[in-house]
Amino acid sequence: MIRRFIQRVLGNSGKAETGRPASEPLILPLAKHGIRRESIDACALRTCETLADSGFKAFVVGGAVRDLLLGKKPKDFDVATDATPEEVRRLFRRSRIIGRRFRIVHVMCGRDTIEVTTFRAAGNLNGDDEDDRPTDETGRILEDNIFGSQAEDAARRDFTANALYYDPLREEIHDYFNGVADCKKKVLRMIGNPAARYREDPVRMLRAVRFAAKLDFHIDPATRKPVAELADLLDNVPRARIFDEAVKLLMSGHALRGVHQLRAEGLHHGMLPLLDTILDDSQGKRFIEAGLKNTDERIHADKAASPGFLFACLLWPQVLRQWKEIEAEGEKPIPALFIAMDEVLEAQRELLAIPRKLDGMIKEIWALQPRFEQRAGSRPFRLLEHPRFRAGYDFLLIRAESGEMPQELGDWWTEFQDADEATRKSMLLAETGPKPKRKRRRKAKTATEAAETPA
Ligand code: ATP
Ligand code: MG
Repeated sequence: MIRRFIQRVLGNSGKAETGRPASEPLILPLAKHGIRRESIDACALRTCETLADSGFKAFVVGGAVRDLLLGKKPKDFDVATDATPEEVRRLFRRSRIIGRRFRIVHVMCGRDTIEVTTFRAAGNLNGDDEDDRPTDETGRILEDNIFGSQAEDAARRDFTANALYYDPLREEIHDYFNGVADCKKKVLRMIGNPAARYREDPVRMLRAVRFAAKLDFHIDPATRKPVAELADLLDNVPRARIFDEAVKLLMSGHALRGVHQLRAEGLHHGMLPLLDTILDDSQGKRFIEAGLKNTDERIHADKAASPGFLFACLLWPQVLRQWKEIEAEGEKPIPALFIAMDEVLEAQRELLAIPRKLDGMIKEIWALQPRFEQRAGSRPFRLLEHPRFRAGYDFLLIRAESGEMPQELGDWWTEFQDADEATRKSMLLAETGPKPKRKRRRKAKTATEAAETPA
């Protein structure tokens, strides 16, 4: 059964390129890969040891092995085993089974949590009809919880570089699809028939772009080719999943490269549909590039970066455009900004499902922008006290860097926030024009204005 399945994955020969049967991995000793067990997270190591002591297979798998091989620091360590979730659960006092679609076990050590997954089988990768897993009418897999052998588990993974198994006790890598060689060549290669694998899960197209950007890999031509034709399949994927993938791409530390590649592959329509209009406009392009570069640098410097800030950047050129239009129609500047903010968020939400919990931060960053232009009287002092001052200021600097605002304004705030009281007072600009009268608003505030206008 396994042999027949692997034959379907690899074609009729049933052999990997090396001539070795594909159900048997290439086993690489320490000398061939250099990953010592000391580089494995203590909790993952303990989990593997406990499983092995009870006679189960246990490997560190996926991204962690790939990243260690490439000399990068892994984000997290996942473990794959032939023990069932119940068997894993019984071995670890501090563990729990989670998920209904994919039942995985979380094993806790201290504050650390390791995800332990039982080897799973994929189904058909070549387009015949032997797959038992439920799919939708486009072939997208809806349920994927059939346990399988280690070889089957490797074959259901997406890219060769992501299908490596590291045995920390023996310090060996089990490699079914020449993933180690691909890592060395910096090639991202889909396991099996790329078009069929994208149909099963269109998100793999976004993953290809994300990994290529993050790892600085070249996408193998056969893996890349079907994307142009299949990009529209992303329309069938639940919006929340696309959003999660968008965040991973944007927070990868290589967002600038990722977004450009996304556009080059024609994949942004399903993810950031406003990108076309923005990148065709030179000011918008400069702003987004400055924003993404800034986030990439923050992530590399281990500084906080938030999805809210990123989406505020990505959508700002559109807000700016609509703000000006609404103002040109006769609306006052601040109400015009609030209307533009709501319109842009609503339009984008239909396509990307930005969770509402991010709205607050996104809108606050935007709403603070006009306040940075007020540099007289007590207003700059009040702005410094605002809980989102820092994010608003970082955002202002990106506007200045991209040429949308004068650099002098950004520099003024840089100096003002760190200056002593006397210097601050000397920096204030004179009030221009008559002091604005505190008159009652004729129109009731909209709900958003009421919520967002700082008191
Ligand atoms: P990162 O470091 O960005 O987390 P990762 O490789 O660990 O990268 P995850 O999304 O955490 O990526 O997935 C863990 C592993 O699960 C992958 O390495 C891959 O083997 C497998 N995997 C995840 N998503 C898919 C998918 N959509 N199709 C096939 N395999 C997948
Ligand atoms: Mg991961």
